[in-house]
Amino acid sequence: MNSQNKVTKIAAFSQDITESKRIQEAFRESEERFRSVFENAASGMALISLDGHYFMVNNSLIHMVGYTAEEFGNMTYHDFTHPDDIKLSDDNVRQLVNGEIKNFQIEKRYIHKKGNIVWVLLNVSVVKDSLGKPFYGIAQIQDITLSKEAQEELRQAKLDADQARAQAEKLAQTDYLTGLYNRGAFMNRLFEESSRMLKTDACMSVIMVDIDHFKRINDTHGHRMGDIVLQQFSTALKKGCRADDFVGRYGGEEFILCLPKTTMEQAYIIAERIRRTMENLAIPLPESDFYMYVTASFGVASVKIINERCAERLIDYSDRALYQAKQNGRNRVEAYSGFSASL
Ligand code: GH3
Ligand code: MG
Ligand code: MG
Repeated sequence: MNSQNKVTKIAAFSQDITESKRIQEAFRESEERFRSVFENAASGMALISLDGHYFMVNNSLIHMVGYTAEEFGNMTYHDFTHPDDIKLSDDNVRQLVNGEIKNFQIEKRYIHKKGNIVWVLLNVSVVKDSLGKPFYGIAQIQDITLSKEAQEELRQAKLDADQARAQAEKLAQTDYLTGLYNRGAFMNRLFEESSRMLKTDACMSVIMVDIDHFKRINDTHGHRMGDIVLQQFSTALKKGCRADDFVGRYGGEEFILCLPKTTMEQAYIIAERIRRTMENLAIPLPESDFYMYVTASFGVASVKIINERCAERLIDYSDRALYQAKQNGRNRVEAYSGFSASL
């Protein structure tokens, strides 16, 4: 302006803003793209503040957990995480916020607004600000309930099958009347035990037991009473065994005990103790105040386990000793003494 306040010149500035417009547009487009991917993603997605609040959730997550976007806005993951999974979630979030890890992936349970459990595979990574400090978390959540349920069904089916197999195996080894090992199972165990003892230089003993005049019990009191006697006799026999001994039903009224790492002298003492126990075993007669008593004969054999055939020899020798006990008047223990010569 001049001294009369008249405009004499006009200064004009112009700036080329094409580039900044382009950047703004690209930024807006990328935001749009992010929002579209976020909202239409098949898996659940959420942006979570560092204090655990959900400030942006997509439709999949809303559908998965049953809360509206507004409800999410007032909640943290504590509000809909299964109580048993809160610690796991907290531990991971703490490490993420502290910068110890860049992201984490866990399987956890949410509780749907309706109360049902939703198994999810959760991926969380952290978005940092321009100074490199954690700013917010971005979570991706996949509903894995169906595969978890299928896994659980499979696990349960396997467990049931294992149980059924174990039961069938046990049944195949057990004598139905007495619950003791049957003959086959006893023999298997005997061979197992003797091969375990092969290099130990120790003795193994076997006691063969046969109830005396058992036929008379059947004839006098009936077959059912005979069965009861066999059951009571078996229970007492099992009680008379030490922890490492095992017992089987060898035949009708014949039983067999294996005493690993036991000498003839020790086995004889045990047989004699069992014989006395059996002699005093009072078996109540049904529908009466009377008891029945039985006796049994015992054949004891003992060998040092030096080869695979020793187990069979033990059976043979104890059987012979039992025969001797019957011959010598029953209700007695006989030890086989001829083994050293025939080995
Ligand atoms: P010993 O003193 O010589 O051994 O005479 P015992 O009568 O005991 O022997 P014997 O071999 O003559 O008879 C055995 C009887 O055991 C015959 C059979 O009917 C009976 N017995 C075998 N198994 C069972 C069973 O499971 N239940 C019942 N009640 N009796 C059985
Ligand atoms: Mg008999
Ligand atoms: Mg017999």
